[in-house]
Amino acid sequence: MYLSHRLPAGSASVFLFLCLLLAPTVYAYEPPPQILFGGDLAYPPLEWMEKNQVNGFNVDLAREVARVGGSKAEHHLGNWPDTMRALEQGHLDVVPMYYSLERSRKFIFTQAYLYSSHAIYALPTTARVSSIGDLTDKKVAVEEESFAHQQLRHLAKKPDLVLTSNTLSAIESVMQGSADYAVLSSLAADNLLRQHEWELARMGPPFWSRGYAFAVDKNKPELAEWLQDSLSTAIANGNYQTLYQKWQNDLEPAQADNRWLPFFSSAFALLLAAFVLGGSWYWSLKRKVEQRTQELSEALAQRAIAEQELLRVAHYDAQTGLAKLPYFIDQLDDYFHAHQQPVKQEKEILVIKLADLDVIVRTFGFARAEMIVSAFANHLLKLDDALAAYLGRGVFALFINKSNALELFDRLSSAMAVSDPGLNSQFVGGSAYWPEHGRSAGKLMRHAETALAMSELRRRRWLAYEAAMEPSRVDLDIISIFIDGNVQGIFPVFQPQLDLRSGKITSAEVLVRWQHPRLGLVPPNVFIPLLENSGLIEQVTEQMIDEAVRVAVILRERDLPCCISINIAAYDLIETNLAGIVSQALVRYQGLSSDIKLELTETSVASDPQRVKQVLTQMSELGIYASVDDFGTGYSSLSYLSMFPIRELKIDRTFVSDMLGNPRNHSIVRSTILMARELGLVTVAEGVEDDQTLQMLKKDGCDIAQGYVIARPLPEAEFIEFMRAHAAQVFDMSQFMK
Ligand code: C2E
Ligand code: CA
Ligand code: CA
Repeated sequence: MYLSHRLPAGSASVFLFLCLLLAPTVYAYEPPPQILFGGDLAYPPLEWMEKNQVNGFNVDLAREVARVGGSKAEHHLGNWPDTMRALEQGHLDVVPMYYSLERSRKFIFTQAYLYSSHAIYALPTTARVSSIGDLTDKKVAVEEESFAHQQLRHLAKKPDLVLTSNTLSAIESVMQGSADYAVLSSLAADNLLRQHEWELARMGPPFWSRGYAFAVDKNKPELAEWLQDSLSTAIANGNYQTLYQKWQNDLEPAQADNRWLPFFSSAFALLLAAFVLGGSWYWSLKRKVEQRTQELSEALAQRAIAEQELLRVAHYDAQTGLAKLPYFIDQLDDYFHAHQQPVKQEKEILVIKLADLDVIVRTFGFARAEMIVSAFANHLLKLDDALAAYLGRGVFALFINKSNALELFDRLSSAMAVSDPGLNSQFVGGSAYWPEHGRSAGKLMRHAETALAMSELRRRRWLAYEAAMEPSRVDLDIISIFIDGNVQGIFPVFQPQLDLRSGKITSAEVLVRWQHPRLGLVPPNVFIPLLENSGLIEQVTEQMIDEAVRVAVILRERDLPCCISINIAAYDLIETNLAGIVSQALVRYQGLSSDIKLELTETSVASDPQRVKQVLTQMSELGIYASVDDFGTGYSSLSYLSMFPIRELKIDRTFVSDMLGNPRNHSIVRSTILMARELGLVTVAEGVEDDQTLQMLKKDGCDIAQGYVIARPLPEAEFIEFMRAHAAQVFDMSQFMK
């Protein structure tokens, strides 16, 4: 299901190794020597008692997680309602269970570590039902206080519930006829049925796919945080995968076989025999024929179900349950064909990409990434009037009525945060509308993908397709202005950086601004990528180097020393004489090497490693050091980057800006700081927007912070004034430390 992949070897494992090495130093919290885990006494393969021994995947995992965190797991298994009560009353520390909103009000949950679904079970002779909605007024066995119990309790039309103390007794109630159906976690139910060789059948496909996580006593938040960290470590160090593989056969039982097939052929043969034997009009034979006819029609119905199942496998992605692309396109074209004239309802194709999936794969492994993909897919499945497809590598497509995509993003984000607190992920999107942007699915998909690419390029959450996104006149305009040279309206702004240890402003970043007489204020996200891709960025870089040195010298002469950081593109490093340009600027303004530093992105470092190493070595010989910008968004690991003469890491703002509300991002920030320190690198957190984040970064050991909470990028005069105002006294950290 999730863990068939292995972590990439090499650099990523060094990253993880460092994570591990350093993780225990994060908290001062000492876990108790023994932690009491609870569970169900008959819930294989997750947990069960046999000959006074506790067994199961949950048990092994709890032991491993406790061990990693420096403690020991002790298990008390019992009936489920008693177990829940014991956790609520604080007699147990931790109980693994399905996550639900209702439960999250009572307990603190770790991230989900397993996904599983539920199904309806009944004797094969019982009338088939295809969904929960068909259970109204039926006698339905369910484990008391289980996730299924909670869900059934909230149905508008309630079944007649037969409450049992565990899964096994729910199955027994159906076997013995005191209930017609049971709604159970399919993982445990299938295991018990196999073990006991009982012939209960699943009615219809599974549903309520849910994350399984550790629930911790609400009064023990520190224990919960420790448990989450130990669990992350066990996932990161591969031990979770080893355990999962050990239990894989039980956790992923083979699909139920198609029992109807032999049944169908024998029913048909019997019916044939009945006719051959016939001729005389015996009453008994007539009854037999009726009976066989009924069997045959049932067999045919079963076959229709099985055919549907085959089609489902062909059309739908196995991991996510969403449509595959060819089927998605077919469905759309069918729809467009049928609704051509007149168009009553405009439609939207929205392509969504989980933006940080690659980082998650590198940091936590494929298992975690696949959990996120499945959890996200689950929410797409729940959308009304939507057809959803999975295109692979974290990209999804939705076919919906024309909507407000950003509102939908917010809803999906909050739904993810509620259902899978440890798993929420950043996503970006692009939309194309039917019929406005095209009348065929192929064309609309292309346009939606173009809009997505543009969102990524401009670092926006979402954009709708515009014809202007195709290589446009404006783009060509911009390029031709730069080709002609002598560009009007380029000027620098400076964003201060706060040294978190001393509370002083000792550095800043220069950012370019372009106010063109005809085009107006053109955002850097629009023109910088164009210039980088067409080899024209050098003019901007030269001008920014010049401005940075000039302003740093002014500041130093006023006794306000400030090292100004300059953004350097891959092109500058590889194609131009950067060392020459920098030296000239230093000579021109009598600058010192300590007046400036260089910012380059991971991708530019990786684009031509040998050349980059050579240039950076030249620069460090000049005494100018380099910083890696947007760290965490690229593909290279820290151990790889550390082979270059680099002094500083800038943690990308996507991780920093919401780290307080997003534990995964916070843990990426923390481990980056720890690893950077281990490698002797200075850390800068960018995109710090509020006091609390600033305070937390200081606590986490980050060296420097940059962001709107300290100052926005300022024009030269305002920047110099800002430096003057804050230099005399140590920067007043208290204003951020309320
Ligand atoms: P960057 O290098 O990551 O620059 C930081 C960006 O984050 C800047 O956007 C800055 O205004 C913004 N920022 C600063 N603090 C905060 C904050 O607290 N919250 C948020 N949400 N954003 C914050 P800007 O100036 O629009 O620049 C965008 C990008 O354009 C830069 O990203 C950089 O990649 C590029 N760029 C800007 N100036 C230059 C330049 O002179 N040369 C090159 N090659 N690229 C540049
Ligand atoms: Ca930068
Ligand atoms: Ca940056």
